[in-house]
Amino acid sequence: MKWWGWGSPAKRVEVGPEAVAMLRSELGEAEPAECVRLEEVVVPAPRPLPGEVATTVGPAAVLDGHEHRVRRAAGRSYPDLIRLRAGRLEDAPDAVVLPGSVGEVTRILEICSREGIAVVPFGGGTSVVGGVEPLREGFERLLSLDLRRLRDVVVDRRSLTATLGPGLRGPEAEEALHAQGVTLGHFPQSFEYATIGGFAATRSAGQASSGYGRFDELVTSIALTAPAGDMRTLEIPHSAAGPALRELVLGSEGALGVITRVTARVRPLPERRRYEAWMAADFDSGAEMVRTLAQADVLPDVVRLSDQAETRVSLALSGTAGAKRALLSSYLRVRRRAGGCVIVCGWEGEPEAVERRHALSARVLRSGGAAALGRAPGRAWERGRYEGPYLRDELLDLGYLAETLETAHTWSRLGELYDAVRGAIGAALATQGTPGIVMCHLSHAYRDGASLYFTCLARRRPGAELEQWRAVKAAACEAIVETEGTITHHHAVGRDHTPYMRAEVGELGIEALRAIKERLDPVGIMNPGKLIP
Ligand SMILES: Cc1cc2nc3c(=O)[nH]c(=O)nc-3n(C[C@H](O)[C@H](O)[C@H](O)COP(=O)(O)OP(=O)(O)OC[C@H]3O[C@@H](n4cnc5c(N)ncnc54)[C@H](O)[C@@H]3O)c2cc1C
Repeated sequence: MKWWGWGSPAKRVEVGPEAVAMLRSELGEAEPAECVRLEEVVVPAPRPLPGEVATTVGPAAVLDGHEHRVRRAAGRSYPDLIRLRAGRLEDAPDAVVLPGSVGEVTRILEICSREGIAVVPFGGGTSVVGGVEPLREGFERLLSLDLRRLRDVVVDRRSLTATLGPGLRGPEAEEALHAQGVTLGHFPQSFEYATIGGFAATRSAGQASSGYGRFDELVTSIALTAPAGDMRTLEIPHSAAGPALRELVLGSEGALGVITRVTARVRPLPERRRYEAWMAADFDSGAEMVRTLAQADVLPDVVRLSDQAETRVSLALSGTAGAKRALLSSYLRVRRRAGGCVIVCGWEGEPEAVERRHALSARVLRSGGAAALGRAPGRAWERGRYEGPYLRDELLDLGYLAETLETAHTWSRLGELYDAVRGAIGAALATQGTPGIVMCHLSHAYRDGASLYFTCLARRRPGAELEQWRAVKAAACEAIVETEGTITHHHAVGRDHTPYMRAEVGELGIEALRAIKERLDPVGIMNPGKLIP
């Protein structure tokens, strides 16, 4: 991973000349942004850790070089990338520690509790909410506990479950599972770098969540190593033995302890995958179709409805070459869908089931008035599903802000939430003197509601990027809170959403979480400043 951006430095997803022209004409001419050299990134001098840390994990598993510290000092949100590129990190961990066993995790947490050293569990570092930020909150020393060495895989083929180490990255886990003919079906856009522990700690949702389930829905059993000791749940399909401790650990974001093992349901590898796109006349009618699909139990495994702005901009950014785009436009004009909203749908599984389910979904889409665009755009979406973050790097280079945030609500209030958040982001950008494009897609659909995922593009304010971002983020979060939507459907709380947790769970809810934290982490060393205000 590039230290200042996303993915391999060898891979680029270019913004084509047509798209650059569109950005310039709609957002204004931007000042291309520079990125400092790694050695120019300023971080405070590291404070030494007790010798017992190196004795526990071995000296080679304690990394305190500049690059290691910089790489664990930020996640991958827009403000993270701005701070990294400017070389203006507020802080960095004093060292990165890589435990090689659960026993070593236990021992490290004992040492850190005794010595008062803050611990930030680190998976893939893809948090977009400040989840891995090294916030000291009064602790003088802080270490990043990188879990990459905990990568066991045990598949129970008969029960269709897999027990996985927290440090496995998405592709590593899938490769091991594929060798046994199974899959988790969990494919978030950050799949290439995010880890099993991170998925569990943030209640992540993949792009095929409608079919396979969100990550927290897949987990049947989980183990947590906390400063106060080990806690684990049984590997069973269900239990009525009181409130589920599994649910307490899922989404705990490193604030209660370290997730050291996850058992999750897996499925046989799909024999057929059918991806295609449809076009709805507008967002409201598209949302109605998705609601009908969900409530009639015929949701595709992937369903994603883009609003008009996202449909238009994605088409421009995808670089669909002249002739192909012209063909698509005339097809849509004939069917009176030009300027409409694209719906990407995907079905996976046994061939017969895929075709049967496709026919049922297609009937709903057709009767809702959607026009079929065929498989080519669906396959193109599938091929490019991990390219968004590479494109964001290019947009940043060109001098544009590209930020995303997400929420969810019931079908009854989804339209209200859409209008409120879209309006708030647009107004905040305009107040900053940088009017932007605000786009949205609806995904992760349920019988009772769905998630909305917003992306905004605007000209960056050179030198005042963080101020500009803060204004947009605060406006969006306040609009969400006022509309009683959730502050996050799947990105988690981290640092950025902690101020809104009171609105989410109430004062007594915060106190209950605090009491649990005090029992599991009496000194408060685990990921300070996150999740619990
Ligand atoms: C480009 C991009 C696209 C994204 N797309 C999606 C998406 O489609 N769906 C989605 O849900 N999210 C998405 N995310 C957000 C992010 O990838 C997820 O939150 C992911 O689950 C984080 O995994 P990670 O291993 O990188 O965790 P990290 O970023 O390393 O950590 C995230 C949080 O979990 C804690 N943590 C990590 N591992 C452990 C552990 N073993 N025990 C205890 N705590 C732990 C950390 O302390 C931190 O608080 C995206 C992010 C980016 C940058």
